[in-house]
Amino acid sequence: MNRRLRSAILLIIGGVLGIVPVLAANLFMRDFVRSQAEERLSLAADRLLLNVEQVVQESIDVISLLPHRSRPSCTASIRKQFHLLQIRHHVLHDIGLLNDDRELYCSSLRGEVKFQVRSKPVTSQVDHLSFQSVYDDISRKQGLLVAWRVAENVSIAAFIPDDHLILNSMPIEYASASSASVMLATGSVLVETSPEIRYRKKSPFAVFDPDPAWTRDLIKTIARSSRYPVMIWAGVPFETVWMTFSGAMDLINGLAILIGAMIMFFFVRLSVKKEPPSYSIEEGIKKREFIPYYQPVIDIQTGRLAGCEVLVRWRKPDGSILSPGSFIDTAEATGLAMPMTTLLIEQVEEDLSEAYAAHPQLKAGINLFNRHFDDLGIVGDIERIFGNSGVRFNQLMFEVTERQPLDNLDRARAIIARIQALGSKVALDDAGTGHGGFAYLQKLGMDVIKIDKLFVDSIEPGVEMVPIVDSLTNMAMGMGMTVVAEGVETEPQLDYLRSIGVHQAQGYLFAPALPAKAYLELIDAIGGMAGKDDKVSGDAQGPEDYRATQSDQMVQSVANF
Ligand code: C2E
Ligand code: CA
Ligand code: CA
Repeated sequence: MNRRLRSAILLIIGGVLGIVPVLAANLFMRDFVRSQAEERLSLAADRLLLNVEQVVQESIDVISLLPHRSRPSCTASIRKQFHLLQIRHHVLHDIGLLNDDRELYCSSLRGEVKFQVRSKPVTSQVDHLSFQSVYDDISRKQGLLVAWRVAENVSIAAFIPDDHLILNSMPIEYASASSASVMLATGSVLVETSPEIRYRKKSPFAVFDPDPAWTRDLIKTIARSSRYPVMIWAGVPFETVWMTFSGAMDLINGLAILIGAMIMFFFVRLSVKKEPPSYSIEEGIKKREFIPYYQPVIDIQTGRLAGCEVLVRWRKPDGSILSPGSFIDTAEATGLAMPMTTLLIEQVEEDLSEAYAAHPQLKAGINLFNRHFDDLGIVGDIERIFGNSGVRFNQLMFEVTERQPLDNLDRARAIIARIQALGSKVALDDAGTGHGGFAYLQKLGMDVIKIDKLFVDSIEPGVEMVPIVDSLTNMAMGMGMTVVAEGVETEPQLDYLRSIGVHQAQGYLFAPALPAKAYLELIDAIGGMAGKDDKVSGDAQGPEDYRATQSDQMVQSVANF
């Protein structure tokens, strides 16, 4: 998948998952708060109902004490009884006889009382008992009339005013915001309490602003009495309850935001995370993205183009070219260096076959890894690739670096011998920097020594001797080896190297590593002349139609040599 697309998808997933904890915490908490509130509200309704039941029970108990088996007449003694009972039972506002017109006569307090009827009488399980919502004009009280029918058109009735039906405050934490109604089973309201009613009681003339929360999400419950035809409705706005949890929610939200941020951070990291380098190197090998560049090598004694060193480059799909410093260690550590080298050598063969067949004096140096000296695989590769090629074995040189040690010198020696038996040369690369030293040279039977740039750099203008360069050169020449200097950047370096007899050199003074096309143009321009004249002379000119290319500079620097 395209990397950008992958990053974008990961960022979107991260963003979405990042807000999940906050959403989940809120959803979960709202659910939790709602069920808690429902439970508490239902307990509160049960308590209110219990109170109503107790009051009703009390009124029935009172009536049952009276002579209710026969039609009573309003005698002074019965009125007195009514009066005494009413005084003893303060929940009852009045006791008396009731006719079907809902007129209380023989009232304990006031003689004849005509109630305003607010609902039809509702009978209970025992049909001589009926319950009714009434309003008493004299006491200006609304309430419940409990009537016990004792004869045709006559009941003994007790009037329970609203303030005894409902508790003064709701038995829950958020009482001030909650509402409740005591109702008959038919739904007629006997009495209700709400924030507005309570407010009006306290300040009758002030303006009450209804809480808009009431019109929204309401938590409600109903508790029905199993004994009497009464029930309690109770409700509270969810938002009000939710606000009582605001402290806890701040904490929970803070935690959820933290978790969300961690999730987002994880995905952002994931989206910017590069694919494992070994994975992309493997892909790169499959897609043949590793290509050879060619750094010209000059015979500094004669001025001829001696050949090149092959240096790998990674040409990314976006066209950028990576130097080996950014991938070679990973390739080596993951074992991918081997297939990469094989791919590279195959391309060298393709690139150079024609030109090298035409210029048999040109050589190509190919860098090997130390692992190549573990088995004969590389020898097989060389034979297979160059066995039938315009590039002959004797045009090839294989470079073994001294920077890393060889595991087994005897085995390496045997492999080197096999390569030499084909007619190719073997060079000690980066000589003087690492492990091998003189022992390597002696034991491995190298043909060429390449003096590392590190030492070439120490050649300052005007110096008369540079001990390491001098001794490496002397020793190598003493052993009949060819000496090549790497990283030559200045004229004084070149002059010095030539003066001590170094055979060949490469470096930015002549040319950097060139793409195949530029290197082949260079061969066309000066390699051909070298082939003809056997030497690129100081006054050699390029062909007339030679266009200024990257190799043009090289032609000039070699030509001016
Ligand atoms: P090396 O084998 O010593 O190659 C010479 C390095 O020095 C190359 O760097 C080259 O571009 C650079 N160089 C050449 N002339 C100059 C100069 O005048 N000044 C400076 N500053 N640098 C110069 P490059 O191509 O980046 O390669 C670095 C190293 O990576 C090579 O060092 C070699 O050890 C390794 N390498 C490159 N290609 C291959 C390959 O195909 N196989 C193996 N096994 N190793 C390779
Ligand atoms: Ca090299
Ligand atoms: Ca080197």
